[in-house]
Parts: sequence; C-alpha cells; structure tokens
Amino acid sequence: MELSVKEKNDLIFDPLVCVRCGYCKSTCPTYLATRDERFSPRGRLILSQKLLEETSNFIEQIAIYNDLDTCSKCLECERVCPLNLRPWFNFIKVKNRTFMGKIETYLAKLLVNSKLFFGFIFSAMWRWKHRKIEENLYWDAISVSDRNAESNTGSDLHDILFFPTCFGYTVFAEERKKFQYLFRRLGVNFKVLSEKFLCCGAPLLLSGDFESFRENSRKFVLKIKKSGANLTDKVNLIVMGGTCSWIIRDFIVPDNFEELKNVEVHEAVDFLISLIDSDVLVVKKNIGKFLLHKPCHNHSQSLEKFLSKLRLDYEVTDFYCCGFGGSLFFKHKKMSDLLGVNTILRKNFDFIVSSSPGCIIQLSKFANVRHAVDLIFTIAQDL
Ligand code: SF4
Ligand code: SF4
Repeated sequence: MELSVKEKNDLIFDPLVCVRCGYCKSTCPTYLATRDERFSPRGRLILSQKLLEETSNFIEQIAIYNDLDTCSKCLECERVCPLNLRPWFNFIKVKNRTFMGKIETYLAKLLVNSKLFFGFIFSAMWRWKHRKIEENLYWDAISVSDRNAESNTGSDLHDILFFPTCFGYTVFAEERKKFQYLFRRLGVNFKVLSEKFLCCGAPLLLSGDFESFRENSRKFVLKIKKSGANLTDKVNLIVMGGTCSWIIRDFIVPDNFEELKNVEVHEAVDFLISLIDSDVLVVKKNIGKFLLHKPCHNHSQSLEKFLSKLRLDYEVTDFYCCGFGGSLFFKHKKMSDLLGVNTILRKNFDFIVSSSPGCIIQLSKFANVRHAVDLIFTIAQDL
C-alpha cells in the first residue's frame, strides 16, 4: 500500500474526526443483525485506520478487508452521523488500497467493460428466471382510465429518457415492458436510452475505482447527448431501480454538472406513480396481504402513499437493508442471508413487493417477490 501524504490524510480524515458517539450503530443493519462492533460503521472506521497505519500483517489485512467489505452501502450511517461523515465511502476508498481491493476493482472493471462477460452473466440469470414475454398481450389485457391518460400528456414533462439499466434487458425485461406499456398508455412520449449493457458504473464506484467510474460516466453522458435530448432545457431521466438512480443523481450528474445541470433523475416507479391519479383506481379483487420492502437507496414515500390510498393490505419491512448491497450478495452469503431473514422476520404475508431489482433478486431467496410495476399493472387491469 503506497500512499502519498495527501491521500493518506484524506483517507484517515473520517476515522480521526469520528467522535465514537455510536449514533450510527443504532441504524447500521450489519451491526443490528450481528451485535458485533466490527460490523458497525464506528468499528469499521477504527479498522480502516488500523489498515492505513500498517500495523497489521497480511493475514490481518485480509480479515479487515472482509470486515469493511461486509458494509452493504445502505447509507444509513451517513444519514445519522452528527458530523456528516460518510463512513461507507471511507470503507470503499480504504479497501481499494489493499491487495484484495485491487482484485475487486479488476473484476468490477471486467464486469462493466466486457459486454460479453456482462451478457453471459445476465443471460444465465435470464435463463434461470425462465420468462417469455408477449408484449402484444399487454395491449389487450389492460385498461387505464382515459381521464388519467389525458391529464398527463402535458408539455410540462419536457424530454423524457427512459433508462432500463442492464437489469431491464435481462432478468427484469418483463418489468421493463410493463413500464414502457404503462408510460405509453398514460400518454407519455419517451425515448429509451437503449444500449443493452450501458452501465451506470455502480460496480466501479462501489469497488473504489473512481478513475474508471469517471471514465464510464463520460460514456454515459455521451450516450445521453447522442439520444437527441435537448440538454439546454429540462430533461427527465427515468431510471429503473433505486441504486442506479442514486448513482446517477448523486455522482454522475454532479461530476458532469455543466452538461447535465438540466437533467432531473427519477426512479421509474416513483415517476410512474406521479402520473397516475390513484383516485380513479379501484381494486376490485383481493390480491392478498403483502410486505412492502423500501430499498435503502430510495427513501421516497410515494409508493407507500400510493398503496395506502388504494387501501391495500400490506405491512412495511422495518429492517430496510435486504442484504443485496455492495458485494454482500456475491461474497458474504452468511451476512447477506442474515440481513435478508431479518428483513422479513415475524411478518405474515403472501408475497413481498419492492421496486429495486437487486432487492427482488435477494428476497426471492426467501419468499415470493413481485416488482412494484407488476403490482401496479395488475391493479390497472382491474379497473
Ligand atoms: S455517528 Fe459519526 S461520529 Fe458518531 S460514531 Fe458514527 S461515524 Fe463516528
Ligand atoms: S453503509 Fe450501512 S451497512 Fe455500511 S456501515 Fe453504514 S449503516 Fe452500516
């Protein structure tokens, strides 16, 4: 680990400034699930300082890397820290400096840059899900109130770009088609940011490879420009999934502010709900009791408000982190499963509803899960 003095000061800033008050512990899902200080933001900050001070040997470094790596990047520690520290961001920067971190960033680069590799993984997931879609069926099956369609065709929506993300072309292709169908049915004119494996760069950012992330962001910006959207006026970018919309809103747009200052990022379910007048929806049949899982990267209340207006029978998960985040799902099965089980513990439900592709993949290990757009689609059919 060779660090310049400035790099070292930057990295060690959070651990030194942290007053060890422990507020972050009370909301950290990995601490709440294990009650082990090593898996709390405060504990990880102390470990990251130890790593940087090089007081640990190689074996200890691997153990510390693993403890930092079990952070799910749910952002709760950042939300509650009275000193506005961002512990999770410190962890990805620090672990990126280790031998294991270098391997991780190499794999992240391979994942994002190799379309073949990307295509292979997602095709495998696609086969696993065994779904076949007939888009025409949707046109016959659904009816959305004309009043609703007319009221939302207004020109105040400006340019609308729909970014389905890599999930929307693979495991969640059916859900992408439902979004596209409902947007059209609600009178929205949109263009699809269509390159199948165009990636927001989440794996690069979360592995701490900021240089490659910025390179990828440039490709993303060029793609938006090539779409023909008028960037001198307001552009609505509709993104499938909380994590990708968070990465674009909080990192890609600020990093490319001059070009993207008129771009407003919306998570797709939130945007869809904003178009639907829930007063005209009447649910005619009992769809069962469900558990609403709100993803940690999207704290919007809109889906919950929408569902409560429809008087559906649901409960909200009180453990917000399902265990998919960061590298957990792939590398730390035990912690990932523990968080998943905690999410649904002591609840009675027929199925789970979530708007995040990652959360749906994770929670499918434990129960039946439906994408929120699928639920809205079903409700719309019942009109
Ligand atoms: S809340 Fe902030 S200052 Fe307090 S222990 Fe956590 S990181 Fe440190
Ligand atoms: S991002 Fe979430 S899991 Fe990671 S340290 Fe913060 S609160 Fe804990």
